[in-house]
Amino acid sequence: MSADVGHQPPAKSSECPICESPIARVHLADPFPCPTCDHWLYVPRYYSYFWSFVALGVTVASCSALGARGPILLLASVVAYYPVLFIMSFWMRHFAPPRLRPCDRPRRERQNP
Ligand SMILES: [Zn+2]
Repeated sequence: MSADVGHQPPAKSSECPICESPIARVHLADPFPCPTCDHWLYVPRYYSYFWSFVALGVTVASCSALGARGPILLLASVVAYYPVLFIMSFWMRHFAPPRLRPCDRPRRERQNP
């Protein structure tokens, strides 16, 4: 028997597109420097939009599958959306990390060396 039986697949992490080193913590909203090569990187906006939309779809589908209809479906979806989004953001950071893009150093960082 293999020693790997029962182990979960290793969590993925984002990679720097310049030096290809793994980056454990990415900033979804703002550009940030690669800890290895210091090039500035950012997460494309569509990444957050896409996963927010997927979370909304999962929320509505789950509430509908549990029997919610009409105004109750709307109310249940509003209440359940943030917990679902939280769970999905945890999942996506570990198993579908964002593909980073290089960018210029932000202006506010240039003023404060
Ligand atoms: Zn790098």
